[in-house]
Amino acid sequence: MASTETNPLLLHGTLPRFDLIKPSHVEPGIRELLVELVDLLDRLEANLEPSWSGLVEPLEAISERLGYAWGLVGHLIGVKNSDALRDAHAAMLPKVVSFGLRLAQSRPIFEGLEALRAGAGFSSLDATQRRIVETLLREARHAGVGLDETARTRFNEIQSELAELATRFSDHVLDATQAFVMWISDPVEMAGTPESLKQLAAQNARENGKENATAEQGPWRITLDAPLLIPFLEHGENRRRREELYRAFVTRASSGEFDNTTLIDQILALRHEMALLLGFESFAELSIDSKMAPDIGAVDGLLEELRGASIDAARRDLEALRSHAGETRGAARVETLELWDVAYFAERLREARFDYSEEELRSYFPLPRVLKGLFALVGRLFGVSIVNADGETSVWHPDVRFFRVFGEDGKRPIAAFFLDPYSRSGDKRGGAWMGECLGRGGHGASMPVAYLVCNQTPPIDGKPSQMSFDEVATLFHEFGHGLQHMLTRVEYGLASGIRNIEWDAVELPSQFMENWCYHRETLIGLSRHVDTDEPLPDALFDKIEAARTYRAGSQMLRQLYFASLDLALHREDLPASGQNVLSVQHRIAERTTVLPPLEEDRLLCSFGHIFSGGYAAGYYSYKWAEVLSADAFSAFEEAGLEDASALAETGRRFRDTVLSMGGGTPPMEVFEAFRGRPPSPEALLRHSGLGSRAR
Ligand SMILES: [Zn+2]
Repeated sequence: MASTETNPLLLHGTLPRFDLIKPSHVEPGIRELLVELVDLLDRLEANLEPSWSGLVEPLEAISERLGYAWGLVGHLIGVKNSDALRDAHAAMLPKVVSFGLRLAQSRPIFEGLEALRAGAGFSSLDATQRRIVETLLREARHAGVGLDETARTRFNEIQSELAELATRFSDHVLDATQAFVMWISDPVEMAGTPESLKQLAAQNARENGKENATAEQGPWRITLDAPLLIPFLEHGENRRRREELYRAFVTRASSGEFDNTTLIDQILALRHEMALLLGFESFAELSIDSKMAPDIGAVDGLLEELRGASIDAARRDLEALRSHAGETRGAARVETLELWDVAYFAERLREARFDYSEEELRSYFPLPRVLKGLFALVGRLFGVSIVNADGETSVWHPDVRFFRVFGEDGKRPIAAFFLDPYSRSGDKRGGAWMGECLGRGGHGASMPVAYLVCNQTPPIDGKPSQMSFDEVATLFHEFGHGLQHMLTRVEYGLASGIRNIEWDAVELPSQFMENWCYHRETLIGLSRHVDTDEPLPDALFDKIEAARTYRAGSQMLRQLYFASLDLALHREDLPASGQNVLSVQHRIAERTTVLPPLEEDRLLCSFGHIFSGGYAAGYYSYKWAEVLSADAFSAFEEAGLEDASALAETGRRFRDTVLSMGGGTPPMEVFEAFRGRPPSPEALLRHSGLGSRAR
């Protein structure tokens, strides 16, 4: 860059200048920053003083600087993607990763932290500071700092091999997904499918050489991408086509050039070797060492308890589908229910039982009204007020809104957030997430700022965005993460907000907030029909509430199947015990499925969560955190969901514990401080209609 002005990526601690940042800032900015940080790290290592201010504070400063600049690049990759930005990101990624490794494996820093912990000053630190030191020590151990030269060389080799295998695994899944195409040219074979699917499949056909394809006449191009696959499995009457799709889906990436079979064996073997190097008996032990769950036994216990509570319900769900399928008249009738019939008949039975459609609900949930209702709810519960501040800072897209959050005194903002609500094809990643813009740190000097990113339906024809019920729930979910980030009272940057919270506890506030979508007063309060201005009718709320537990046992069991399988694969040395991944899969399926998988099922070949994501030996976290969130919500039920002052009192307690204490306190202590006792799965089972367990 010719300019001598400060690179806007390096203005750390301030609201980002989205009006100035360009992809061309990334390479020079990150390069300059890394030079500075390496220098800081060198000096820290050379003059190490094993004290809080001499060691931990400089580490916090390094992580803040890197987090701000590199976090901004990651944020823009998600919401304002471009080839130029992607290239710049790819160019700098290896450098950022190797700096991270250098930091994590620093022997002088590790020894300094150990001296700090063993020293006389340690007991004068507060509990949060001591927890931060313990975390830093554990992270260093997990990064291989304690290994001798030979072992560390091997450890680093494993790390880079695993990173490469993970990328290949997910590339294969993507490529195998794209490699399968099902063309349909006979309209009879599209019978039953909704108009939206026909439009999408015809558009897909036009983009792939059939310029004249129409929604009515076809041809239609169906792939294994969820927006095409799922509606076809749920609504397509043609059973042979459903079977074809289903078989293709469960055998993805299991043969030919995109075969993940050997990659899985390699990944599992390397993870096992890495765990042994670090002194653990298995990768599962290593994974759980940094989680809230005390040990594998505790996870086993929870999974087994939930399995016991859901298996009979799942069997009943299956029986109900079988009889519904057998009673169906006409061509759709099925004598023997197969795996490719389940989604189809589950939808038919849902329609028969609950009699409403997602489309019908949308008109009741225009975004401005939903936001107003959400803000009113968090005002009632947590005593905060949220004020629109559009225009007070720059944003990355005109649709993005900016808000400030005020505390109970209403005088001074305590936090702020950006909201990027709509799906945008081309430059925005799918899904929804909460990201950190600024964190609280430096003794509370800096104010937390969050990014809330959703991908909901955009406004059409001058009318506001009309949200589906799922989109409303997603907004509440991300807002829950945002509240934990923004309402933190932890003064240390390494443990404020969602930082330093165990992986299996971090979904507590987010899943907690979703519960309010089933609270009559809240949901009706945030609804207004986009044309008639009428609130959601009580009768419609009753149907939504009744549908909440539909097939809950089956859904629970499916998650337990994945969680148990993930854990089983990571807890022993499979080749040494004469097992392979398929024999493990069959063993687990016997206990956790009611309709056994096909003999050729290769679900594991596309299980990205555990082979290319962060969920290895951690898939159980979804259920672990759901126990916490449901039990937390039950405190509000006990206080009285109709009693405004009881809700406010319980809400303040939730704010002062779960939302305030962040990663500064062990999550079990935080939970008990709120609930007055350890967590119990009873509320989760009750909300799922699976009855309270026998005590
Ligand atoms: Zn979440």
